[in-house]
Amino acid sequence: MILKGTPAIKGRAAGKILVLGKRKKRRKKRLTLPELRQEVEKYSEYLKKISVDVGAGSIYRVYEAILHDPQLWEKVESLISEGEKNALRAFVRVIEDYADELSGSEHEKFRNLGFELRIWLRDFENFVEGHHSEILENSTGRIVVGYELNIMDVFRIIKYGVSGVVLERGSLTSHPILMLKSRGIPTLIRVRDAVSKARRYRYAYLDAMEGFVEFSRRPLRIQVNEEKKTIHLLTNGGRVRMADGEEVTLQINVDIPEELEDFKGLGVGLFRTEYLYLMGVVSRDDQEYVYRKLSESVYPNVLTIRLFDLGGEKAPLGMDIPSHVRGIRYLLEYNRKLLEDQIEAINRASVRGNIRVLIPMVSTVEEVLEVRRLLKADIPLGIMIETPAAALIADRFKKFASFFSVGTNDLSQYVMAIDRKVSDYRFHPAIFRLVWYSFDKFRYQKERYSVCGDLAASHMGLLALLSLGIRVFSVPPAYIPDAVELIEKMDGETLNRVFRHIMVAYSEKDVEGILFHVLREKGIVEGDVSGRKVEMSTDLYESLKPSVEDAGNS
Ligand code: PEP
Ligand code: MG
Repeated sequence: MILKGTPAIKGRAAGKILVLGKRKKRRKKRLTLPELRQEVEKYSEYLKKISVDVGAGSIYRVYEAILHDPQLWEKVESLISEGEKNALRAFVRVIEDYADELSGSEHEKFRNLGFELRIWLRDFENFVEGHHSEILENSTGRIVVGYELNIMDVFRIIKYGVSGVVLERGSLTSHPILMLKSRGIPTLIRVRDAVSKARRYRYAYLDAMEGFVEFSRRPLRIQVNEEKKTIHLLTNGGRVRMADGEEVTLQINVDIPEELEDFKGLGVGLFRTEYLYLMGVVSRDDQEYVYRKLSESVYPNVLTIRLFDLGGEKAPLGMDIPSHVRGIRYLLEYNRKLLEDQIEAINRASVRGNIRVLIPMVSTVEEVLEVRRLLKADIPLGIMIETPAAALIADRFKKFASFFSVGTNDLSQYVMAIDRKVSDYRFHPAIFRLVWYSFDKFRYQKERYSVCGDLAASHMGLLALLSLGIRVFSVPPAYIPDAVELIEKMDGETLNRVFRHIMVAYSEKDVEGILFHVLREKGIVEGDVSGRKVEMSTDLYESLKPSVEDAGNS
């Protein structure tokens, strides 16, 4: 049985299937009080292992405190004495009551906790009920098939060495996918009926190069892991030379601190701190500790700390704010305390002189000024270019911000009027024109302008962005070797050719066509590029190709 999908993270993998997702309702397991206590201890051990291992120890501490709260146990016991026969059901009721109480709170922080408590309770129930659809120790080497993933799933996938992921939904720029991308775990998304089909088979061969998954009752092929490349440490701060000698700087995007381990020779162009927030690292002290440790481990290279980018699609559900309020707007208008604490933690952690701060979702100059007022004067402040507004007036920000980083994930969502959770539209000429328009004001200060959006982490995207003249990129660690390979094969003349074609392109297909053509010419890819099948035949490409005169006149 073969199903097609969209490759989100390149690679191939084969292994036993592990299906995630709701099964038919079953009756809750029946436990006595001592049995429940035993399960809680086992779960607590498990939680400790997973959260500490992926660098999220504070998650553990929060739940550990809840699990061992004497008041909670008193309530469980009193329900039992009132006649409840199943201790597990009593436990679930008590936690749900807690969560309801928290969700009704005036304070957003408590409302969030209420929501998280519910997710966690589901996790605990699954654990107790031994749902083997969950990702556990025995998931190593498996192909996970599910509807979509949450952050806890991603932690487990990383920790337990799942070898591939197949999802019915998802988009190339959603956060769980971006986290998997940092680890280079082959992932196929938008595979229709994957979950129901996968339940009927035992083995899968995932080809996230060609864009399909094959389910079978027997092992399909040898267990391949050919795409796992050795990552070469770059010891020169990420500087790579193009074939004609021009220099490009590569940095990495970090979502969870543990990812830094193998990349100490590189600067961090984007540290997405919202994952710390979601993991419960919010106090000034905890944040200061994390920032200080990271700044030491990347020293003498830069650590770019992006302020919490919460709200919108990144809001932990339960956060009761309008959907347009996100990033710096959220911090300034709805949670100034969180902003002030974060900046204070950064101010305190900045002792090595290599920390920079990046503001997410900026659209006005005033937002930058407000942050500047709180931040120590010697810490460089930069802005994300991810709203069309910021892209259009990037030059106006030059006085107030020292560096600029394009977030193509959001920029394309807002330029194309799409929802990044469910779709993407990455090669539309409008996106490149807009990025070029904003970058053009930095033509003589290229070191101030970079791209950290996911577009830079694919051959086609990186090629297009290089052609605009951009020379600093921050990409997920797993893409570094590919980025080096591409950059080393490029030269100014080829890039000019690409640039001229992009600027006169009529459609996304035109842009993909020229990029694909050049990548093939340079021997960098065959067949399929950056997870997107280029279906255009050479003839069609020729007929669509903008005329030489158009290109010459641009
Ligand atoms: C982006 O929008 O491209 C970006 C880098 O930010 P995030 O993906 O975290 O929203
Ligand atoms: Mg963004």
